[in-house]
Amino acid sequence: TYIVNDNCIACKYTDCVEVCPVDCFYEGENMLVIHPDECIDCGVCEPECPADAILPDTEPEAEKWVEFNRKYSEMW
Ligand code: SF4
Repeated sequence: TYIVNDNCIACKYTDCVEVCPVDCFYEGENMLVIHPDECIDCGVCEPECPADAILPDTEPEAEKWVEFNRKYSEMW
């Protein structure tokens, strides 16, 4: 899965949402999140993000964001 980190906070772009083939972006409190079970790992959103906030969970610094993304994508 891919995740969104805090580089997204207050970002007004939604380029990622537009390209995601499975619509797995959700609105968190002040940033977007990705539902980790719905993401199909296609990777097309990563280069679209102008804030460099999207990364695969295989990156070490992404690990702490997986639960955060899950929590806020399941809130609604
Ligand atoms: Fe959507 Fe693909 Fe990005 Fe996952 S990697 S959030 S499926 S665009």
